[in-house]
This record gives sequence, structure tokens and C-alpha cells, in this order.
Amino acid sequence: MTKIENKYRFSCLIVILSLTFSSCYKGVNVDLVIHNARIHTMNEKNAVMDAMAVKDGKIIEVGAEQQILNKYQSEKIIDAKGKDIYPGLTDAHGHILSYIHQKLNLDLVGCKSYDEVIKRVEEYQIKKNRKIIIGRGWDQSLWGTNDLPTNDLLNKILPSTPICLYRIDGHAALVNDAMLELAGISSSTKVDGGIIELKENKPTGLLIDNAMNLISKYLPDYPEKEKLTALEEIQNELFQFGITGVHEAGIEFKDIAFFKKYIEKDILKLNLYAMLIASEENIKFAKKNGTFKFKNLSIRSFKVFGDGALGSRGAFLKKHYDDHPGHFGMLTTSPLEMQKVAKLCEDIGYQMNTHAIGDSTNSILLKLYEAVYSKNKDHRWRIEHAQVVDPKEIAWFGKFGVFPSVQPTHAVSDQRWAKTRLGEERMKGAYAYKSLLKSYGMLAIGTDFPIELTNPFLTIHAAVQRKDKNNFPADGFYENEAINLEECLKGMTIWAAFASFDENRLGSIEAGKEATFVIFEKPIESSKAYSENFAWKTFIRGKNVYASDEL
Ligand SMILES: [Zn+2]
Repeated sequence: MTKIENKYRFSCLIVILSLTFSSCYKGVNVDLVIHNARIHTMNEKNAVMDAMAVKDGKIIEVGAEQQILNKYQSEKIIDAKGKDIYPGLTDAHGHILSYIHQKLNLDLVGCKSYDEVIKRVEEYQIKKNRKIIIGRGWDQSLWGTNDLPTNDLLNKILPSTPICLYRIDGHAALVNDAMLELAGISSSTKVDGGIIELKENKPTGLLIDNAMNLISKYLPDYPEKEKLTALEEIQNELFQFGITGVHEAGIEFKDIAFFKKYIEKDILKLNLYAMLIASEENIKFAKKNGTFKFKNLSIRSFKVFGDGALGSRGAFLKKHYDDHPGHFGMLTTSPLEMQKVAKLCEDIGYQMNTHAIGDSTNSILLKLYEAVYSKNKDHRWRIEHAQVVDPKEIAWFGKFGVFPSVQPTHAVSDQRWAKTRLGEERMKGAYAYKSLLKSYGMLAIGTDFPIELTNPFLTIHAAVQRKDKNNFPADGFYENEAINLEECLKGMTIWAAFASFDENRLGSIEAGKEATFVIFEKPIESSKAYSENFAWKTFIRGKNVYASDEL
């Protein structure tokens, strides 16, 4: 045999061997292969890959086009047509339950005058004929006034039907005299952490913060069927934006059963991280169950309300309101009560997430967390909103290990009046997302829906450009506090996963993690002018839960 013949036979052998090898390699069967994509893994290196393989609801491998196509076979192969894929987005602070109610309540969002509110009440009642009317969404700052309304006009219509109309931020309610009477509220009624507004020693119908609790037990719940329809609508709305997870900021004991029921029926597919309101029943539940997991629902935190909102001047400030001398706002939970919850959380390994808007509340909470934390700093206890922080104390988030959870659309929604309430000096520590990020190193980013819209692209526009949907203001609202696009996306993916202790399961597209991701219609970008974007396809645990082209 010549040398050449020998070489030939040897190469043949290699070809045959490698053919057997590759065909056996190609035999790795998976449930789904996606290729021709730009997969933004959001892993530590922020790598962008072409293709991935999914099996049993998990990501098996992410890699280069040929690497994945050669190695795996599947009955389901999706050509992503070069589109962007991200981990499913998380809204790190939302209220599905309030949104359900908002959908069934009279909708007052966008009313341009008190007269328009009255008109909508009358129209709603003709259609619905409710025994008690509950509405939500009015905002007097859209009526060309800073003053909160009284119920004079409201009393003139439907005098025998109790009416309760919540302000857009949920921190104030305007009720008619029939409602005051039903709840037995008079000028002598006392309430802690709330205000029953009086004029000439008579309630005006305006109830602020804890004063609203006096009426809540008289408000009827809606039929389960109506609630389920609303839940499905909301979930679908979230999927169309690529949102696959929500940190539900405050649930009652009965809501645990509501969520479990629809998870069991495979209707509620979102990843839910639910925070418990610190009620007696919930505390009992937490002590008994510890970290609770039921399929896609996890519970291991308490939500506490530190103060009210800035719009209704309920946020607790160190110095008085610039537009209301002598008024400081107030705490809605006493420091002693907050301390009790903190101790409980520390004992049972729960996370404490406290709503804090005013600089005084933020200060109290930062100090409280630091005092209660045992040596391990990895508590990840959160301050929800962290809206107005004393600039000197922003560094405490990093120093004390307190996770800031923020909603950038609040900044651009409040831009009309925030400075009037706070004055220039305090604005330096208000909606200061860049400074908070610098301090702690991460942000959990959400919307606080239904106070704001669920649309994450409005959040990106607000966080990166510091502008609202109408691109106002032209040069950005305190644009020195803007964060960049990558930081904002991390706040909705991997950092949100950290904020709920889910970083090993969610938040990035990596082998071993849940196959929960979204293919977007257009690349995610941020430019001076707002542009819409939607999910093309949304996947949860490997299943396609939404596809725009099937609509
Ligand atoms: Zn909220």
C-alpha cells in the first residue's frame, strides 16, 4: 500500500467515525429549539447568543447558531428572524388584586374636571346599578387645582347610594354623605395615621390614608366570575408586554387561596412573589409555613406601609410641605409596630418590604433595618418607592444593605407638582434612581400598576430619558438621575430576581434556569422620542403563553 492510499483510508475512517458521532450527537431530543435570535442572556458577562435549547421547562443550553442546531433536535423549532430575546420581565412592584378591582370599579382615570367625575358616576350607575358605587383614579392635579376636593357636588347626585371614589394613588378617598353615614363617620371620629378632613366641624367627605380603613369593611367584593375574567385580561396584558413575573405588593390572607386556586387550574401562569400584609392571620400563616412555595407562587416577605403618598400630602417629611406650611404628612404604621414586624421577619427568615415615600419615613426605616439585621447583611430587605430620601442618607442603602425598589414612571407622573410640594433642595434626593443604584449596586424596578400603566417601555423611557409618554419634559426631568438602558433592563430581570431571592431560577437566560423569556417585536432601544414595543412571543417555563401573530 502506498503512503497516499494509506492516508486516504485513514481519512475515510475519520469521516465515517465523525458521521456516526455527529448523528448520534444530533439525537439529543429537546422540547424546543430557538435559533437565529439575539439572545440577551443578562448573565454576568452580558453575553448575546444566537440559539438555545429547552427541555422540561428549563433552559438546557444557550450558544452559537450551529452549536445548538447541530447538537439538538426537536419537533418545535422557532426561527426568531433575528429578533431580540430577553429573560421574561418582572414588575417588581405591582398590584394585580387592585387592578382586578380597578377593572370592575368605576374608572375615573384621566378625568379633566370634577364635573367629569360626576358625569362618569352617573353613566356607570345607569349601566351597572350597583348598591354601593366604588370608583378609582381621580387626580385633582389634572383639574387645574392643587386643592383636594370636598363632596359637595357628589352629594347632589344619588343621595341614597353610598359612593366611595379613590384618588389615583389609593391614599385618599372622596366619599358622599350616604357613605359617611353608613360607616358612622362624624366630626368626632378618631383615627390613627389618617385624616378625616373637616370644614366648619363637618366631614368634607375626604378621607386620607388610615381614615379609609373606616369604610373598607362596608365595600362589597365583586362576584368571583367577574374577578376571574379581569384576572385573565390582566395576565394577557402583561404577557403582551413580555412581563412574566410580578412582585405583588401586599396581599390579605384570603388572597393566598384566590391565587392558589387559579394556579392549580393552570390559569394563573405568571411567577408571583407575593408580599403579605402584616395582619394577624398572615403572621400566623408565615410562622407556620416559613418560606412558602406553591408552584409559581412564592411567599417569604411582609409588606408594611410606612407612610402615605406625596400627591395627597400623606408622605412623612422631615420639614413641612413647601405648599402646606406646618404640615409634615405622617407615618401610617407606628415605629413600634414596624419594629415588631422587623423582629418577626428576622426570626423567621422573612424579607421586610416597606412603603416609604417621605424622607423622614425613609430615614426611620433605614435605621430600623440596620438595627434589626443580624451580622449577615444579605437580608435584601427592601424599601418600596424610596421616593424622597435625604441626600445625605442615600449612601445608607449601600452601607446598611437595603434594597431600593423603585418605579421610574412615578417620577415623570409627579413632575407637574413634586417641586411645589418639596422645594428645590429636597428635589436633590427625590426620584434619585442613579444615586440609589450607585449606593446599593442594584435596583428592583416596577410600575406600581394600576397606579401607573403596566407598559415596561414607559418605564424604560422614564428611567433612561426621564420623560413621559408625550416626551415631556423635552430635556428630561432631573435628567442627572437617569440610569442607562442596560441598568434599567437588569432592574426588570436579574436584579428583580435578586430582590425576590430567585436569582438561581429566574432573571437570566442560562442553562439550568427556568425557560421563561420573551421575543420582542422590535429591538429594545431607548431614544429621545418614545416608541412602542410589544412581545412577539412570550414563554413561561418553556410554554408559549402569548403570540402576537395569533391574535
Ligand atoms: Zn404599591
